[in-house]
Amino acid sequence: MPVAIAIVGRPNVGKSTLFNRLVGRKLAIVDDRPGVTRDRREGDARLGNLRFTVIDTAGLEVADDASLLGRMRAQTEAAIASADLILFLIDARAGVTPADEHFAEVVRRSGVPVVLVANKAESRTGEAGAYEGYALGLGTPVSISAEHNEGMADLAEAIAEQV
Ligand code: GDP
Ligand code: MG
Repeated sequence: MPVAIAIVGRPNVGKSTLFNRLVGRKLAIVDDRPGVTRDRREGDARLGNLRFTVIDTAGLEVADDASLLGRMRAQTEAAIASADLILFLIDARAGVTPADEHFAEVVRRSGVPVVLVANKAESRTGEAGAYEGYALGLGTPVSISAEHNEGMADLAEAIAEQV
């Protein structure tokens, strides 16, 4: 069975953009509005020499209706539970937010190994934001740009160390 890797993080950090990058097609819906990825999506990912199953999640986000929120939360928790590794995304431009801290705690409690990823770090922007990521206690942040396809070799290396 291939290794399963779940992409987790608050809304709008670029989870679906990374998912699309890893599976090489526009399978996940990318949108500026939080909460657009309602449903769990799985795909066959390739990254350098690595092959794995990648799971895009809705994010543990705040929804307008309680049942939807519950459904999304349950999906993310199920994805975490079935994952061999979590890619925990933050937005390097925004730095660490209270929502990141909250979800980092959920991820930490799961006991599943984590690679901390600081996305939106193209052309070295967001170095300060990535640095803030150390405070989450999830290890050294790997800076990438999912949109601009930067940092993917570093990400592959960090994943290979964990799986
Ligand atoms: P999700 O809610 O975490 O799934 O985030 P999305 O993948 O839907 O992306 C949210 C927004 O961030 C979209 O406008 C993306 O185009 C943008 N985005 C994603 N990755 C990057 C990146 O590497 N750099 C920049 N500048 N924007 C990005
Ligand atoms: Mg999404």
